Amino acid sequence: MREVAAVLYENGAKKVSGLVLGINQLIVGNIPFKGWYCAECGNKMVLKRNSNNNKLFYGCEQYNHKTYPIEKGQKILKRINSFTGNERQDLEDAY
Ligand SMILES: [Zn+2]
Repeated sequence: MREVAAVLYENGAKKVSGLVLGINQLIVGNIPFKGWYCAECGNKMVLKRNSNNNKLFYGCEQYNHKTYPIEKGQKILKRINSFTGNERQDLEDAY
């Protein structure tokens, strides 16, 4: 991140902002990432940026349906992707 910012500043950027996301970094096993879908239309809930204040939030991919502050959205994604008892058993069997 620091190296990327340095290159951008060296090339004339006036302000550099960075964002690192790390949600569900499981790379082994066959546990799929479960998406979060809009309760109003069924489209994906995605991370969006408010163009007025640059704050991130979660909202419907396609429409201006209900939105969630980033902290609340991360909690919801974490809950959706929590292991159930069965999945925990599967992991123990595999490793
Ligand atoms: Zn929607």
